[in-house]
Amino acid sequence: MMIPYKHEPFTDFTSNEHADAYQTALKQVKEQLGQEYPLIINGEKVTTEQKISSYNPAKKSELVGVVSKADQELAEKAMQAAHTAFGEWQYTPAEVRADILFKAAAIIRRRKHEFSAWLTFEAGKPWNEADADTAEAIDFLEYYGRQMLAIKDGQPVESRVGEFNRYDYIPLGVGVIISPWNFPFAIMAGTTVAAVVTGNTVLLKPASTTPVVAYKFIEVLEEAGLPAGVVNYIPGSGAEVGDYLVDHKHTRFISFTGSRDVGLRINQRASVVNEGQIWIKRVIAEMGGKDTIVVDKEADLELAAQSIVKSAFGFSGQKCSACSRVVIVDEVYDEVVARVEELTKALQVGNPEDPTNYTGPVIDEAAFNKITSYIEIGKEEGRLIAGGTADQSEGYFVQPTVFADVSPEARIMKEEIFGPVVAISKASNFEEAIAIANDTEYGLTGAVISKNRTNIEYARQRFHVGNLYFNRGCTGAIVGYQPFGGFNMSGTDSKAGGPDYLQLHMQAKTTSETL
Ligand code: NAD
Repeated sequence: MMIPYKHEPFTDFTSNEHADAYQTALKQVKEQLGQEYPLIINGEKVTTEQKISSYNPAKKSELVGVVSKADQELAEKAMQAAHTAFGEWQYTPAEVRADILFKAAAIIRRRKHEFSAWLTFEAGKPWNEADADTAEAIDFLEYYGRQMLAIKDGQPVESRVGEFNRYDYIPLGVGVIISPWNFPFAIMAGTTVAAVVTGNTVLLKPASTTPVVAYKFIEVLEEAGLPAGVVNYIPGSGAEVGDYLVDHKHTRFISFTGSRDVGLRINQRASVVNEGQIWIKRVIAEMGGKDTIVVDKEADLELAAQSIVKSAFGFSGQKCSACSRVVIVDEVYDEVVARVEELTKALQVGNPEDPTNYTGPVIDEAAFNKITSYIEIGKEEGRLIAGGTADQSEGYFVQPTVFADVSPEARIMKEEIFGPVVAISKASNFEEAIAIANDTEYGLTGAVISKNRTNIEYARQRFHVGNLYFNRGCTGAIVGYQPFGGFNMSGTDSKAGGPDYLQLHMQAKTTSETL
C-alpha cells in the first residue's frame, strides 16, 4: 500500500544533533569542491573544452565545480538521444516511471544534508533555506510519483450501451527544461521529473550559476534506474543552446522557470513553426514577481512585521515569491514601519556556512550590480530606514534594505529587483491598499495581515495573485498543499506541486470502441 503523501519535514537546527550533522555535511562537501563534471548525453559522459565555472557567491575565490558546456552540436546530439529514447519511454508503464521517482526520493532523503550543503556552497543558501530547497525536491518526487499513479488510467467518461469509451493521458514528446538558480535543486528537479514521470524525455539546461547540484541530481536519477537518454544534462549558454533547443523541430514542449524577459522571448520563439515541425509547441513559463504584503488596521502588528521581514529577506529576497512591496493602512503605518526597521537592523549578514548569519550573499556580480543600482534609485524614491549598503570584497553581500514612504508609482514599487530590498507605501484604507497591491504587471504571491473577516473575504476575491496567504508571509509554498504559480506577467499559472500540473505535460486521447 502506498503511504499517503505528506511533505518532507524541515530540519530543526536548534537541535545539536542536526546542527552537528549539517556541519559534517559542509565539511564533506567542502572536500569535494572544485571537481570537474561532464555533460550527460544518452547516459554517456561527454567532456568539452569549453567550461562553466561555478563559484561560491559568499566567497568569490572558492570554486564549487567546473562543468562541461554544451554547444549547438552537442545540444543536437542530446536532442537525437531524447528523441530516440522517447520511442520506448513513452510506453514504459506509469508504475515503473513513478517507482524511479520514489527511489530517487529515498536516495536524496538519506543524503539530505549533503545536498543542502551543496546548495549552501553553490547558491549561498543559509542552512534553513537550503534544507527547505532539498525538502521541496523530495516533495516533488513523492508528490508527482503519486499523481502519476492517480491519473495513469485517465479520467472516467460515459459510455452508451454497446460502446466502450476511454479518456487517457499520453505523453507529449521531447521537453526542454530550463531552470533558474534560485531554487537550483527543487525547481530543477521538480520540472524535470514532472516531464519524465508523464512519459516524456528531457533535455535539462540548468542555470549557469548552479550546474553542480543539477549534476548531482542526474547521478541520483541514474542510480534510481532511469534509462539512458530519458534525461540529458546539457548546461550551456541560454542564448546559444537555449534558443537552439527552443527553436528545434523535435521540441514538443518547453518548461521554463525564470525571468519575465527570458520567458517572453521563449514564448515568442516557440510560437514560430520551423521546417519539419508538425505541432504547436506547448510552453509552461513561470516567471517573475513583485509580491506584496498588505497590513490592515485591525491586525496583529507584530505578526505583520515578522512576516514582512522573513518574506523580504529570507534567502536575500531572491525568491520569486519574496515580499518586495508592503502596503500598510494609515492608522498602523508608523508602528509597523518602526518594527520592520528594528527587526531588519538586527539581521546578521555574512557567509551562510555560519548559521548565525541570517542573510547570505546574492548570487553573482550581475545581481549585485542590479540590486545596488536599485538601492540608488530607491534613495531618490523613498526614505531609507535600514540597510542601503553593500560589499563585494569577499562575496556578494547586500545589507537588507528598507525604503519607507514610497509612492505606489515608484520604480522600486513596480519592478522586480530580486534582492534584499523592500519598499513600503501607505494607503488611506484597506480597499486602496488592495488596489495598490494589484497595480503591477505581475501576480504571483501576496499576503494580507488582518483580523477583519470582511476584509479577508474582500481580498480573497480581489487581490489578483496566484498564491494568496492570510496572516502569514508570502513565501514558503509547500508541494501538494499550496500549489504554486502566478497570474499576468508572472507566467502561465501552471501550479507546480498541484493536482493539474502533470497534465500540462500530456495530451488527452479519447478512444471509443463499438462492442
Ligand atoms: P533567467 O531568466 O535569467 O534564467 C532562467 C534560465 O533561463 C537559466 O537557465 C538561463 O540560462 C536560461 N536562459 C537565459 N536566456 C535564455 C534563452 N534565450 N533561451 C533559453 N533559455 C535561456 O532567470 P534567473 O535569474 O535564473 O532566475 C530568477 C528569475 O526567475 C526571477 O525573475 C524569479 O522571479 C523567477 N522565478 C520564478 C519562479 C516561479 O515559479 N514563478 C520560481 C523561481 C524563479
